[in-house]
Amino acid sequence: MRFKNFLFNFLLVNTTIIGDYVVFNSKYSDSQLFRAIADSIVHASIGFLSSLIYFTYNHNTSVPIHINVFICTFVSSFIDVDHFIAAKSIYLKDALNLNRRGTLHCTTLWILITLPLLLYSIIMRHLNIYTTTLMLILAYSSHHIRDGSRRGLWMYPLGHTEPLNKTVYLFLTITIPNVLGYVTNCYSINLMRNSGGVIHL
Ligand SMILES: [Zn+2]
Repeated sequence: MRFKNFLFNFLLVNTTIIGDYVVFNSKYSDSQLFRAIADSIVHASIGFLSSLIYFTYNHNTSVPIHINVFICTFVSSFIDVDHFIAAKSIYLKDALNLNRRGTLHCTTLWILITLPLLLYSIIMRHLNIYTTTLMLILAYSSHHIRDGSRRGLWMYPLGHTEPLNKTVYLFLTITIPNVLGYVTNCYSINLMRNSGGVIHL
């Protein structure tokens, strides 16, 4: 597990750094279509690796890992669909020339969705809802933090933060899946002790 954790963290750092270079600074970056596709792939890859890192800490076999990894990967990339929704157009040109951000890029909205779900799953000890909620948290946080390195975080109604420093962006991208995985693992162990060997979350 330690090797897998190291490997996925290594891949996450490299995907983040190399992915941003390819999307924004490579010789193909002038192409809007290339940037859009490559950007979506990088978002999805970061979500994918974040969920894998999370699962290196947690081995509860009652949780369907594949579907949760898929959810995290899919949502990480799907968030950018709101460019098209906000532009009310199916054309990439309209979506990319939008001067405001779509609803799914609002960080407070995601907090309002995931926090009650998280509390509910903990109170009800519902491991599947808990895990899927954490996948949503990993998906939106990784996406918003990556976008936030260029445009800041949208904390409605407070407005936008300054663009995140590159080091902060990288630090948060790596830290969040590890912390969530670690904390969940500790929490499961405590509950396992309390419940006589059966893991309930
Ligand atoms: Zn985005």
